Amino acid sequence: RRGMSYLVTGGCGFIGSHLVDALVARGDRVRVVDDLSTGHRENLAPGVELLEGDVGDRALLREAMEGVAGCFHLAAIASVERGVREWCETHRVNLSATIAVFDEAARIGGLPVVYASSAAVYGSNADLPLVESAVTRPLSAYGADKLGCELHARVAGVVHGIPTLGLRFFNVYGPRQDPKSPYSGVISVFCDRMLRGLPLDIYGDGRQTRDFVFVTDVQMALLAAMDAASTDAHVLNVCTGQATNVLHLAETLGEIFGVSPATRHLLPRAGEIRHSLGSPIGARRTLDLPSPRSLGDGLREVVNWL
Ligand code: NAD
Repeated sequence: RRGMSYLVTGGCGFIGSHLVDALVARGDRVRVVDDLSTGHRENLAPGVELLEGDVGDRALLREAMEGVAGCFHLAAIASVERGVREWCETHRVNLSATIAVFDEAARIGGLPVVYASSAAVYGSNADLPLVESAVTRPLSAYGADKLGCELHARVAGVVHGIPTLGLRFFNVYGPRQDPKSPYSGVISVFCDRMLRGLPLDIYGDGRQTRDFVFVTDVQMALLAAMDAASTDAHVLNVCTGQATNVLHLAETLGEIFGVSPATRHLLPRAGEIRHSLGSPIGARRTLDLPSPRSLGDGLREVVNWL
């Protein structure tokens, strides 16, 4: 599979740009479709072709898929909050454009598509750790649209013969995650505030937990997923199976920075899930992944990058 051409939608974004780096490093040619709404051109390695525009634009998609061996579809409006305010527009990007990607892959004939789903498909299911066969109960337009992507991936496989694999990312963190975005993950926000000597905002008691997965582990899962894509339209969790609470996160960052962080407790956020934890067993088995990066090691890399 080396020396092939791949399309990465959303390749200028946080996760997409790390994937592009890995493809380039192993000698593949990469084309990116991105509208630069949250991504940055500077994230792209030199020599990567950027087609700037909307992933739902059929003519652009057609041009982008010309001559590629597979498509990694990561472009999305990755913000639950924007889904509240702009329900229809986020639906167009997060689900309709994904169907457009499958449809164009079908027009070419059997082009494999690896796409980003999310732990948000599980929503209020509290049966932890979450396994892929667990009931899906999305609590947001974002989660509902990601679940829609998975359902249409089944259609892509059964009706159109498109091999796919959907990856349900849990809380991804790492270098290039934008701390200035109000929708960014708690890790990038905390690191930025520590660096600037500002207090860390903790919503509620800080004992809510998340399954934080380092971006290079996500990168490896994406690469392996392209080889494992099939018309069975499987979905896999991309997570560590380790729960970390927000207080522990603040403490670990304090150790890395060598100062104990000042914290501010705010009211709990309405509608926030208390605990999120995935089972990594399915992905480890199917994708033959190494043990994930520890939180301490991952955090040190983020801090070094800042
Ligand atoms: P990101 O915002 O950094 O990346 C998304 C990219 O898509 C950006 O470069 C953006 O400019 C581009 N984009 C957005 N709308 C577009 C459009 N209409 N046309 C073309 N390009 C468009 O976010 P990310 O964290 O890198 O997320 C990548 C994928 O992973 C998304 O599908 C997201 O839903 C999913 N995901 C991320 C996480 C996480 O923790 N970061 C968790 C679960 C799922």
